Amino acid sequence: MRKLFLLLAAWPLLAATISNGQTFIIPFHKSYKTFMTHTTVGHLLIIPIPYDAKPATRWLRIDGKPVRLEIKRKRYPKERLHVAPSKVHPPKSAQKRIAAEYKEAKKIYAHFTPKSFITKPFTLPLYSEITDPFGVARIFNGKLASYHSGTDFRAKMGTPVRAINDGKVVLAKMRYYAGGSVIIDHGRGIYSCYYHLSRFKVKPGKMVKRGDVIALSGKSGRVTGPHLHLTIKVRGITVDPLHFIEAFNRSFRTESSPR
Ligand SMILES: [Zn+2]
Repeated sequence: MRKLFLLLAAWPLLAATISNGQTFIIPFHKSYKTFMTHTTVGHLLIIPIPYDAKPATRWLRIDGKPVRLEIKRKRYPKERLHVAPSKVHPPKSAQKRIAAEYKEAKKIYAHFTPKSFITKPFTLPLYSEITDPFGVARIFNGKLASYHSGTDFRAKMGTPVRAINDGKVVLAKMRYYAGGSVIIDHGRGIYSCYYHLSRFKVKPGKMVKRGDVIALSGKSGRVTGPHLHLTIKVRGITVDPLHFIEAFNRSFRTESSPR
């Protein structure tokens, strides 16, 4: 009987489910153990789940106790888009530029700033209708190209775009696909990216506070009309921005409130 009790006591106290493209966030007091790509902000363990992750069961340890994490497959919708052929099959002259921009972005996301600039919950870059959610499978001119790597907000030309948390501007320039782009390093491997901008209000190297206007929205790059695109990267993995913000803020408030 005693043995059975001990067995039951060792049973996972926590089981959670998460979908591909989402972020699993769990508080810990003293220690954690995981073999998955992760980061921490204060006492929050943050695990980004890639968009192409297969259904699986993963085990981690929080303060010595096992946690079972069930990764489920989310069925994201499909979307057909028609854009200028030059933006689907870029001309030879643009390919060098695209490759250089891809390399540059990859290097940025691979960089890990040990310090966290995050001291408060995340906000949104602007408040308006979501015109295209994260994860939609994209078919450009009849050909499956990619998935939507962020959240699109309705924004007429020149709408102020605000930093979603404190951080350091690491990129502010025109790019082929993303158009006018700003990337903010929030520390601990967490980045927010703002695309299709028409004007920059910050330069690389500048420290920004949550809510600071960093740019004006526009319709630059591969777009069908003016809007703001927001991407969030965690340790180089693209996650659903709205899910990340919701999950982070929920855990952050619980974590920072007195016990
Ligand atoms: Zn978008």
